[in-house]
Amino acid sequence: MIVMKFGGTSVEDASAIRNLTEIVKKQVTRKPVIVVSACAGITNQLLQTATLASHGKKEEALNNVVAIESRHKKIVKDLVDGDTQKFLNRHFAQIAEELTALVNGVAVLGELTPRSLDTFAAYGELMSSFIIHHYLESQKIKSFWVDARSFMKTDEHFTKAAVQFDSTEQKLKEIVLPKVNNGYVVMTQGFIGSSSHGITTTIGRGGSDYSAAIIGALLDADDIQIWTDVDGILTSDPSVVKDAKKIKVMSFNEAAELAYFGARVLHPETILPAVRKNIPVHVLNSKNPTSTGTMIVAKPKIDKRCVVKSIAYKEGITLIGIVSTRMFLAHGFLENVFDVFHKYETVVHTVATSEVSVTVTVDNVKNLSNIVRELKHFSTVTVTDKKAIVCIVGDNLRNSPGLAVKMLSPITDVNINMISQGASEINFSFVIDEEHVDDVVMRLHKQLFANAGEFQEIFE
Ligand code: ADP
Ligand code: ASP
Ligand code: MG
Repeated sequence: MIVMKFGGTSVEDASAIRNLTEIVKKQVTRKPVIVVSACAGITNQLLQTATLASHGKKEEALNNVVAIESRHKKIVKDLVDGDTQKFLNRHFAQIAEELTALVNGVAVLGELTPRSLDTFAAYGELMSSFIIHHYLESQKIKSFWVDARSFMKTDEHFTKAAVQFDSTEQKLKEIVLPKVNNGYVVMTQGFIGSSSHGITTTIGRGGSDYSAAIIGALLDADDIQIWTDVDGILTSDPSVVKDAKKIKVMSFNEAAELAYFGARVLHPETILPAVRKNIPVHVLNSKNPTSTGTMIVAKPKIDKRCVVKSIAYKEGITLIGIVSTRMFLAHGFLENVFDVFHKYETVVHTVATSEVSVTVTVDNVKNLSNIVRELKHFSTVTVTDKKAIVCIVGDNLRNSPGLAVKMLSPITDVNINMISQGASEINFSFVIDEEHVDDVVMRLHKQLFANAGEFQEIFE
């Protein structure tokens, strides 16, 4: 079997869903489990609806509910007619009623919990997958719609729930596998799950990729396909670098580094389940399905001369400088520093250290004031926001002498706040002012990929 995941733009309207159906038809014999996102923009709209309700803007929230209902009914109208259309219209009217009840509830309470946010957000994937299921059936494809909350089991860390692999595997084998083996195309949702108490959860924004990888890994898929709106993983974000090239093949490690450092095309956790089972991941373009996409495998055969694969960046970064006020050589300093970040559940991206000072970057500043307060018990702390991390990724960086000079020579006029080369030795990253990020990425790309034409088996 294979897993095919379609992102928001690949299910955004009737024409996208027709494309999806053609793509699925061609691979029906490979026993696909299809994982879909909400129609593009719907998750944001649902979350905004919840927020408006909690801020007392009930009318605006209810206008959103109407807009969400109309958007889905329009897709239905464009795709199916007769009884199926009537049935789906009733279904979406019912969902609009449920959302209205939720808006009223939140508006009365004036409070919005992470648990309620997940309840709102889950509707996006439930709605898109339901339309697609019925359209596949209308196209004579034997489809089985399954609510992912019945098998994707998580803890109750709402909005970023952790998947519980053992119970999810058991449920998948109980609920999904028999249908796959009976010749059904299984249609389900990414992003959503439920706790052992049956409460709706979500696994983090952009998490449908991760759902697909988990399903693929736990059911031993032959292939995990991530269908999106670009030709594959590119040498940089195409919205910044217009002539970014497609990477034909890359390693799991490279893809994971890129995801962690902001390349939105893949959710950071996606790769992990696939790596464990050594299942290839393909990133493909639903708007250009004949393009071969990017293949991510454990150990690609690559030309050792090709050093850099891609440049990613992450904005909204805060730099925290921590200098020990204790004696020189005092032990336990680093431990104390990281204990504080651990206590406040804040992920540190990059770190640079000396014996008495540490500089770290974070993007989650929810608990920043508590973190700074505690760090100040044993150090002097400086905080600077509006920074960006630029990250250069490539398996062969580790064997490349003179690396730093090569990477930084195109941008000698830019002030660099911190440099770090990861332990994996396949990423080289540095921190700059956010306002320079587009310019820096464009200049680096121009220089570092000037000879990409020499590596035709890697770039296209
Ligand atoms: P989906 O809804 O299919 O999950 P996303 O919007 O999450 O799609 O991810 C695809 C987008 O990621 C692309 O449209 C592109 O703008 C952006 N992107 C950022 N960096 C890269 C990169 N290195 N390669 C490809 N796409 C990238
Ligand atoms: N719909 C969810 C989001 O927008 C999950 C996803 O698309 O991957 O974050
Ligand atoms: Mg995505």
